[in-house]
Amino acid sequence: MSDIRDKVVLVTGGSGGLGRALGRAFVDAGYRVVLTARSQAKLQLAAQAIDSAQERLLALTCDVTNKDQVVALGEQIHARWGGVQILINNAGIARAVSFLDMTDAQWEEILRTNITGTYNCCKVFLPDMIKQKWGRVINIGSTTCKVAYTHVSAYTTSKHGLLGLTRSLALESARHGVTVNAICPGYLDNELTRDNARRMAQKTGRSEAQILATFAASAPQNRLIEPGEVANLALLMASEKMAGMTGQAINVDGGAVMA
Ligand code: NDP
Repeated sequence: MSDIRDKVVLVTGGSGGLGRALGRAFVDAGYRVVLTARSQAKLQLAAQAIDSAQERLLALTCDVTNKDQVVALGEQIHARWGGVQILINNAGIARAVSFLDMTDAQWEEILRTNITGTYNCCKVFLPDMIKQKWGRVINIGSTTCKVAYTHVSAYTTSKHGLLGLTRSLALESARHGVTVNAICPGYLDNELTRDNARRMAQKTGRSEAQILATFAASAPQNRLIEPGEVANLALLMASEKMAGMTGQAINVDGGAVMA
């Protein structure tokens, strides 16, 4: 399986800021791409923006927390394009709230989406990669895979867990031609980051611009990260040439975390 055009990439959370950049990068590189997320309307907008003819792009709804829906997604992709060789577990949610104020429902929703959603997709798509003796799993983590920040305890717990899953799956698939790696972005220049900044601004009385400047200043490069920078690393991880890299978690964060 050496031709990019033969490979199918599944991007979960494909309608969000980073999902769109990932989808665009892989379509532009010549892959066939499936974007998935819960909202059909947002998904269609993303698909239109990336590839209006939708020749190399499928937009299929799926809630990754629902195993039956992930199984059904696998069947739909199988019927159209035969299978998935590159799985990008990108669907994720974040809610800034102190540990004491966080509700049980918020805790459970974050862990269910960020960890169990990834687990469900790996359960459904990894067996075929192992059978085919080729595959790439790319988990979108965060610098919170490695360090903690205040007011995001559930998110930090979920991303630390995602790193554990990445390493465990890398071990179990190492002899089957499948690599499993994580990308750990810092603050991205996208809507999720601006939403969080708006919420923090309302709580603290500071302006959204001040909060965004604080996010940027947390990196030595003093800037937010472009989603396209993360997509470039995903392209590299997905390539045939990167067969020897597995179980790794690579930061794209302007130098914020050096571990
Ligand atoms: P967005 O909020 O822009 O996008 C999130 C995407 O996930 C949407 O497509 C959303 O669509 C989808 N999604 C959410 N829940 C589910 C679900 N249960 N099933 C399927 N899809 C779901 O966030 P980003 O693009 O910024 O984030 C993408 C990833 O990057 C996340 O894993 C995040 O943790 C990580 N990240 C983001 C950073 C940032 O600064 N923004 C920094 C570091 C990491 P829908 O709601 O329709 O389902």
